[in-house]
Amino acid sequence: MIALDDVTLTYPGRTGPVTALAGTTMHVAKGEFAAVVGPSGCGKSTLMKLVTGLIRPTAGSVSVEGQKVTGPVKVAGMAFQHANMLPWRTVLQNVMLPLEIVEPYRRRFSREKGAFRDKAMALLNVVGLGAFADRFPWEMSGGMQQRASLCRALIHEPRLLMLDEPFAALDAFTREELWGVLRDLWQKLGFTVILVTHDLREAGFLADTIHVMSARPGRIVETRRVPFPRPRA
Ligand code: ADP
Ligand code: ADP
Repeated sequence: MIALDDVTLTYPGRTGPVTALAGTTMHVAKGEFAAVVGPSGCGKSTLMKLVTGLIRPTAGSVSVEGQKVTGPVKVAGMAFQHANMLPWRTVLQNVMLPLEIVEPYRRRFSREKGAFRDKAMALLNVVGLGAFADRFPWEMSGGMQQRASLCRALIHEPRLLMLDEPFAALDAFTREELWGVLRDLWQKLGFTVILVTHDLREAGFLADTIHVMSARPGRIVETRRVPFPRPRA
């Protein structure tokens, strides 16, 4: 599904070139849940940007679904540390946003709005937010907003979900609740995941495979399969 082969990424940098990734290799199979862990500055965000096609490697190759990445990757959904909900839209309207932007949904949006609404409601129900669809984001807790942001990342049925520290801003109890929510979604919907996290327990709880990065230069130094594979729906 995803292959980084011997990838080097050097930023121009203001005071001279900065090599964020140096000859790193990572493979993620279709349907796999992969976690990437490592210290701040080791190149985790850079790796995410390479996979989603926001930047191009200086050397080596990046491919998604067998296709060399040359521009923004359309099959990916994304969520970040902050939910970034639009405050003037309800939760439901926030979740439906990608359907107004991403083809082929965009073209069908005005005609099929009712069906899309049902689709968004179904997803909100899976994460336990069915009763909160018409609330505004600022009326909800951080954990609830992060549940909604997972729905928004998945509403257009991406085959790849990219998560950059999605639970880092949450308290420990809420964070563990959200692990369950994410695992349910993954088991139900069967997408491939790359999760960037500082939390080794989180990686161990959620992922099939853990890629450990080192800094200076940024590189994957170890890849471990988690010993007890979880059942899939
Ligand atoms: P992480 O996400 O693991 O914290 P990043 O991928 O953000 O790491 O950064 C990796 C390294 O590359 C760091 O040393 C960072 O300062 C550097 N870096 C990131 N983006 C840029 C950029 N646009 N220009 C110059 N250096 C950068
Ligand atoms: P994180 O550790 O969460 O990735 P950072 O503070 O390292 O956050 O980086 C935030 C953003 O700034 C990232 O998009 C990264 O690529 C960019 N960045 C990081 N370091 C530099 C740098 N030295 N020059 C320019 N941009 C940078």
